[in-house]
Amino acid sequence: IITIFFNCKDSKKSMANSNLDEKIEQKVDSVLNLMNLDEKIGQMVQYSAGWDLTGPASSKSAQDKVDKMKKGLVGSVLNVVSVKEVREAQKLVMENSRLKIPMIFAYDVIHGLKTIFPTPLGESASWDLETIQKTATIAAKESAASGLNWTFAPMVDVSRDARWGRIMEGAGEDPYLGSLIGAARVKGFQGDDLSNINTIAACAKHFAGYGFAEAGRDYNTTTVGEFELHNMILPPFKAAAKAGVATFMNSFNDIDGIPATGHRVLQRDILKEAWGWNGFIVSDWGSIGEMRSHGYAKDKKQAAEIALNAGSDMDMESYAYEAHLAELLEENKISLSDLEDSVRRILRVKFQLGLFDDPYKYCDEEREKNNIYTKEHLAIAREAAKKSIVLLKNEGNILPIAKDVKSIAVIGPFADNKDTPLGNWRAKGRYNSAVSLLEGVKAKVSKNTKVYYEKGVELTIPTVKPGSNQFLYPLEFNTKDKTGIKEAVAVAKKAEVVFLAIGEDAYQSGEGRSQVNIGFLGLQNELLEAIYKVNKNIVLVLSNGRPMDISRASEILPGILVTWQLGSESGNGIADVLFGDYNPSGKLPVSFPRNVGQEPLFYNQKNTGRPYNSKHVTYSGYTDSKKSALYPFGFGLSYTTFSYDNLKVDKETMNVDGKITLSVDVKNTGKVAGEEVVQLYIRDLVASIVRPTKELKGFEKIMLQAGETKTVSFTIDKEVLQFYTINRKWEVESGEFLLFVGENSATKMKQKITVE
Ligand code: BGC
Repeated sequence: IITIFFNCKDSKKSMANSNLDEKIEQKVDSVLNLMNLDEKIGQMVQYSAGWDLTGPASSKSAQDKVDKMKKGLVGSVLNVVSVKEVREAQKLVMENSRLKIPMIFAYDVIHGLKTIFPTPLGESASWDLETIQKTATIAAKESAASGLNWTFAPMVDVSRDARWGRIMEGAGEDPYLGSLIGAARVKGFQGDDLSNINTIAACAKHFAGYGFAEAGRDYNTTTVGEFELHNMILPPFKAAAKAGVATFMNSFNDIDGIPATGHRVLQRDILKEAWGWNGFIVSDWGSIGEMRSHGYAKDKKQAAEIALNAGSDMDMESYAYEAHLAELLEENKISLSDLEDSVRRILRVKFQLGLFDDPYKYCDEEREKNNIYTKEHLAIAREAAKKSIVLLKNEGNILPIAKDVKSIAVIGPFADNKDTPLGNWRAKGRYNSAVSLLEGVKAKVSKNTKVYYEKGVELTIPTVKPGSNQFLYPLEFNTKDKTGIKEAVAVAKKAEVVFLAIGEDAYQSGEGRSQVNIGFLGLQNELLEAIYKVNKNIVLVLSNGRPMDISRASEILPGILVTWQLGSESGNGIADVLFGDYNPSGKLPVSFPRNVGQEPLFYNQKNTGRPYNSKHVTYSGYTDSKKSALYPFGFGLSYTTFSYDNLKVDKETMNVDGKITLSVDVKNTGKVAGEEVVQLYIRDLVASIVRPTKELKGFEKIMLQAGETKTVSFTIDKEVLQFYTINRKWEVESGEFLLFVGENSATKMKQKITVE
C-alpha cells in the first residue's frame, strides 16, 4: 500500500545523480576502503558539544564524547561556535585518531550568526529573492569565519497554522513561494561551490510534514493524504534538492502513522531514489530514539534498525547508531551496503567542503576578527528589515509621518526593546543588541521633534536571567501590574501621533512555542484601549513571529505595520518606513485570521458544494465569523497606489506542451515611486483530483515611478499548470484554467484559457 501511496514515477532519477564529481567519488572510495566498521559507524554519529546541556538526549558525559572523538568515532559536532572551540574539537580527532577524518561542525544559523536578519517568515514578506539570498550569503560568511561549515537551515516546512510556534522559521503557507525562497536560501548559504571559504553546507528541514502538525501542536502527528503531501508539502524540499542542498534533516512527527525518521518511502524512495539526491540526511535531535515514544520501536536497537533501513544517515544525539549498528549488521538486520552508502554520503560532503585538504580551513582568527558584524553586513540587515515590513492599513494616509512632526509618543513593551527584534533562533546575536524602535525613531526625526517614550505595560514577568537560554523556559505573562498604563496615557495625550509597539515577545514563537492564543497577551489590549481613548492617531507597530489576531486593532486604528522580528537593524528599518524614506513593499506570506478559531487558515483552499447562497453567512464556513482572512496571503499596501489593466493572453488555447503569454499593465496611480509585487494565480477548473481555488504560480516585483506604467508578462506552460495527478505523476491535464493576476490572493481579475 505504501508504495502505491507514495509512488512517484514522474521524476525517477531526474535530478542530481549526473552531478557527481568523479574525482570526489574516487577519493570517497579510497577513504572508505581504509575504514574499519567502527570508524564507518563513527562517521554516522553526531554529538552536541553543549557539554553542559542536560536532559535525556544529552545524557552522555563530556568525557565520553571526547574519548570517542579521539578515537575518530564521531563524524560531526553541533553547537560549538568560534574558531577557538572548533579548532580544539577538530584537534581531538586530527591529533589522536587513526585515520584523521575531519569532523563537520554544525550550528542553527537560521537568520544570521552575529548580524541578525529578519526571522525567516518576516524576511519572506519581502518577496525579494535577491535580498533573501544575500542575507543567507552573509550568514554563511560569518559562520564560516567562526569555524562552522554547516547550518541547519533553511527550514522549508510549509505551515498554515498560526498556532504553530515554528511558523516563524519558514517561508509561510505557500509551496510555490516557499520553493523559490528555500532555493534562494540554499544558494545563499552554499554559493556555487561548497569549497569556497565563505560558504557552508545548508540543510533542508524537516523532512517531512512537520509544519502540518495537528492543531499547530509542535512535534505532533501529521495526517495528510498522498496528493496533499506531493502538491503542498514536498515541493519546497524538491526545490532545495534541485538547488543542490548538501543535507536534509528529517523530523520529529509521524506522518500518517510512520515517524518521519523511520520513513523509508520518504527518505529512500522519494528523496534518494526518485529525486536522485546525493547528500546525507541527519536525524533531528534525538528523533531516532524518540521512535520508542511513538510506539514504533521497542528499544533503541530497533530504532537504529528502522532509521538506518529508512535512510537516515546520521544520528543526532540519540546514541543509537554507535551503540547498535555493528550488532544489527552482525544479525543481518541492516546491510553493509546501506551503511556504506550513508558513510559515502557524509564523506562526500566533507570532500566538497574541502575539509580533507585542510581540516582547519574554517579556523582562521583573522577572518573571525574581520568578517563578523561588519558595517556592510549591518547595512544589508537594514535593507532586509525595511523590505520585510508589511503595511496593512493606512487610513487617511496617516503614514508616512513628516520628520519635523512636533511630537511623537512611542509606547509599548516593544517600543524600546532591543532584544525581541532578534527573534528566536538568533544564533550568536547578543542579548539586547538590536536597534530599538525608539532609537530608530530618534535617529530619524528633526531636532525640534519631541519624542516621548513609555513602556505602558510589562508583557512578561522575568523568570530567567537576561541572556540565559530562555528557550528552555516557559513565559509568564503579566496580568496584574497596570501601573505603567497611566504614564502611557499621559504621553499619548500630549503627542500628535502614537507609535504603539505591541505584539509578541521573541520567545512566544520558535520551537516548542505553540500557542492557542494569538492575540495581544498580558495587558496589551488594555493598554491599546486606554490610549485609543485619548488619541486616535495611532500606528500599530506589530512585533510578531506568527500571523496574529489583530481584529480589534484593525477595526479602530488608522495605521498598521507588520514588523515581525526584524533583526539587528530593526528600529532603523522600521523608521525608514514610518518616515517615508522607504516606501513599504512587503506582502504577507501568511494569511492573517479574524480569529484563532479559523486556524489553520490559508488562501489555497478547495471549493465545496455548499453554500448554495454565498451571501448567507450561516453556510459560509462559520455561524459567527466570515470564512475569509482578515488580511489575505499576498496582501500589503504601499504609500502609492497601483492599477491593473488590460489583462490579456496572446492566445486562448494551447496543448499540454504549449505556451501562452499572459500580460497585464500595471500603473503607479499615486504621487510617489513604489514597488509592487504583481502576482499570478491559477485555478484548474476540473481535474483528476480536486484542485485549490487559487494557487500562486508566479510573481514579479517591479518598481514604478509616479504615473509610470509597466507591462508585466507571465509565461503559462507546463511548469505553471502541472500538478501531482491521479496518475501519480507531475503532469498537465487538459481542460479549462483560470489565470488570475493582481496585488494579492483575493484578486478577481482573470482570464480563461483552454488546454487541449
Ligand atoms: C530542531 C532542529 C534543530 C536541532 C538542532 C531540534 O530540536 O527541531 O530544527 O536543527 O534541534 O539544534
